[in-house]
Parts: sequence; structure tokens; C-alpha cells
Amino acid sequence: MIKMKDVNKWYGDFHVLKDVNLDIKKGEKVVICGPSGSGKSTTIRCLNHLEKFQEGSININGTELIEDVKVVRHIRSQVGMVFQHFNLFPHLSVLENLLIAPTWVHNKPRKEAIETAMYYLERVKIAEQAHKYPNQLSGGQQQRVAIARCLCINPEIMLFDEPTSALDPEMVSEVLDVMVELADEGITMICVTHEMGFAKKVADRVIFMDAGQVIEENEPNEFFNNPQSDRLKTFLEQIL
Ligand code: ADP
Ligand code: MG
Repeated sequence: MIKMKDVNKWYGDFHVLKDVNLDIKKGEKVVICGPSGSGKSTTIRCLNHLEKFQEGSININGTELIEDVKVVRHIRSQVGMVFQHFNLFPHLSVLENLLIAPTWVHNKPRKEAIETAMYYLERVKIAEQAHKYPNQLSGGQQQRVAIARCLCINPEIMLFDEPTSALDPEMVSEVLDVMVELADEGITMICVTHEMGFAKKVADRVIFMDAGQVIEENEPNEFFNNPQSDRLKTFLEQIL
């Protein structure tokens, strides 16, 4: 479903991704963790072309990611992304936030788009807030809206970039619960998070990045109980 091969990226002189390789199967759940600044966000942002890379290749569900408007649009129609800070449009109601991509990008009739939107708002247990504005909702509710917004395009792949790290502690579980449900339904998922409970529960594989490189990857049990590199050992001591 996702193949990243020897990807290198620089921000000016700064070598941010160094020979990053990822190979993710359909339906697989992968958690990426690592110190701040290690390149986790940059890696997943490359997958839907929010960032460009200079060397290597990325293939999403059989399509080679090249700089072509049609290709990028095709890839983005399959890849949903949820951000740390929700990124909802503040001047639009919850429902209108969910209608933008389906009606403007995918030319869905408005009535059909509303039905789909309400279905996913039900799924994230927030349908009764459909006519409110984002700033009238709690952080946990806003993040669930952001997840529902992604689901409206019926993506093959969902990318999550630290989806709970901007939330007050009491709201973390309501968002993680929605993500666990999604994981159970078989969507391909890459999640950057330090929520190790989530990683143990849903991840097929956990990847550790440091200084722009994939240092180690393993299934969760081995990853947490038998880390190989000193860098991962040190990292786990700090977060666990
Ligand atoms: P992480 O998500 O692991 O915290 P990022 O992928 O956001 O790390 O960033 C990796 C490194 O790249 C950091 O050192 C960060 O400062 C740098 N960086 C991120 N975005 C930019 C940018 N637009 N321009 C220059 N440097 C950047
Ligand atoms: Mg980040």
C-alpha cells in the first residue's frame, strides 16, 4: 500500500530525512515514534505531498508519487491526514467542514455529501454538534470532527500526526477510542504518537526514528521489551 524507498530530503542545507525506507501493507497499522525533531512529521507529510523530497521514491497503492497535479490529487483522494492542531476551518460549521472535500474536490451532490457527513459524525459520536463552530467544541471533540472529515473522502490510508498531543489529558482517550475502532475496521494506518498504550494495543509494527533515520522497527512486544539500539533504549526510558 505504501512504499518509501531511500527517501532523502533537505531543508536548505539541513539533511532532514536520510535514506528512509518504509514498506506498509494494506490494512497494516504502524506507529512511528522518536524524539522531537527526528523527522516523523516530515516523513508522513511526504506521503501525501505536503512536503517534497529530493531523492528516492514513494509509491502509494500502485501510484508513483511524482510532481503532477493529477497524480497528487489522486494520491490525496486516498490518503486522509489528521493533524496535531485539528486544522478545522474556524469560519465554517462542523458540518460545512465535512462537506468541503466531497463537494468541491470530488463533485459529490450536496445532499449525498450531507448524508455521508452525518453518518461519520454519528460514528465519532458528535452528530448533535453538527451546526456548531469549531471554537464552540472541546479539543477532543474538534479532533473527532477532524477524523470524521477525513473519513468522508473514504480514504484507503489514514495518517495521524500526534493527534492527541495538543489535548487536555482527560480528552485523550475519547480520540484514541475512535482511532482504535478505525484500526479494527481494517484501514491502513500510520500514526505518529507517543501514546505507547495505543501502540501496544493496535500497532502491527512500531518504528523508531532518530535524526532523520529509521533506527529500529519491530512488532510492539519486541519493540518495547527488547529494544536493540542504545538510542531506542534511552528513548523508552524517557517516555515510559
Ligand atoms: P518531528 O515531527 O519528528 O518532531 P519534523 O519532521 O517536524 O520532526 O522536523 C524534523 C527537523 O526538520 C527538525 O529539526 C525541524 O526543525 C526541521 N524542519 C521541519 N520543518 C522545517 C521547515 N519547513 N524548514 C526548515 N526546517 C524544518
Ligand atoms: Mg512532528
